[in-house]
Amino acid sequence: MTGAKGPGDIHPVARLPEEWHAVLSGLGERPYRSGQIFRAIHGRGVLDPDEMTELSLELRNQLKTAGFVPPAVVTEVHRSADGTRKLLLTLAGGARVECVVIPMTKSDADTEDADAGAATDDEDDEELEPDEPKQRVTLCISTQFGCAMGCVFCASGQAGLVRGLSAAEIVSQILIARKYLDKHEYLRNLVFMGMGEPLHHYEETARAIRLITHPDGLNMGPRRITISTVGLPPGIRRLGEDFGGKVGLAISLHAPDDTTRGKIIPINRRYPMRELLDALRRYPLPRRRRITIEYTMIEGVNDAPEQARALVRTLAGLRVKVNLIPMNSISASSLGASSNSRVEAFQSVLAGGGLSAFVRKRRGGDVAAACGQLAFSGELVRSKRAP
Ligand code: SAH
Repeated sequence: MTGAKGPGDIHPVARLPEEWHAVLSGLGERPYRSGQIFRAIHGRGVLDPDEMTELSLELRNQLKTAGFVPPAVVTEVHRSADGTRKLLLTLAGGARVECVVIPMTKSDADTEDADAGAATDDEDDEELEPDEPKQRVTLCISTQFGCAMGCVFCASGQAGLVRGLSAAEIVSQILIARKYLDKHEYLRNLVFMGMGEPLHHYEETARAIRLITHPDGLNMGPRRITISTVGLPPGIRRLGEDFGGKVGLAISLHAPDDTTRGKIIPINRRYPMRELLDALRRYPLPRRRRITIEYTMIEGVNDAPEQARALVRTLAGLRVKVNLIPMNSISASSLGASSNSRVEAFQSVLAGGGLSAFVRKRRGGDVAAACGQLAFSGELVRSKRAP
């Protein structure tokens, strides 16, 4: 953000090892401490200096005096009948944010394997699988508390933006959620698909990705990370430049044309589809990888067979797969889900037009953890809105 920000001003959980190095040498500490602290935080998930028992008591106290407090703590855990877990985290200052742990089903894994299998000549896809069969888990995290994009079918969009999360708060969601995995589960995929618009909050999102992919920390391959975006072309360009196209992209398209899209996604008026599709064409996607097109099916708005045909034309020539997601209802809107038969008819038109299209099952609906339902259970927003 501002060039004047020094490593000491960055939250300890968001510091890269070289930034720790600069801070610790200022305290007269040995250089190896920087790696030690970074590994404790990002490898072991220690968010409280008091628990870094490998450090001297003096250093732990110094870190605390310099403002190292845990960026987030878990306040509630809800477990859905389908195994999905929603964690409610409380951040410093009282904001509350949710993240969702989603065990992958067989059909998720098949869709994914179809992609990964096609990409075996890309070096990053050769990450080793654990020896024993383990349940793959996807974690869905948030980048903002609320959202400024205003999409009419989305709870966060209807609530408005309260504030962006710091990189420390973004990464803490992962470090904390990992502790809520069952023994046989492992974190395979990370999706920036919770509250907020990650590319409207680029700096902190990008720093979070650098931390998450750091070999001394969580060491997640960038291809295991997907940024879901409403489709901001400047952000898509920056992401492509900064991470060489390796970070996965999911675009919330939800419509085949500007007229339909403009009605449900206000930002489309500023960045019409031509510009968005152009940014997608230029995204430096590795060979044989595809961009995911998200399409929330809303009854009577975007679910007609002719709209499916128009979508086939709109996406012609792009390397994409389409995820159809029946809309989850939200209290702020009377819009609702398309019927199963509408969704199936839409899917078969796409398939007939040569597009791979998958219907996404609703997960975690019984704990209000489904797409677009992550909201403010907190009082903070209510008190802001009705002082
Ligand atoms: N701002 C980002 C990420 C957050 S939303 C984006 O727009 O992609 C994650 C996904 O959930 C998006 O595809 C979004 O359009 C979708 N979504 C939002 N509200 C929904 C709802 N009520 N039902 C189904 N999907 C919804």
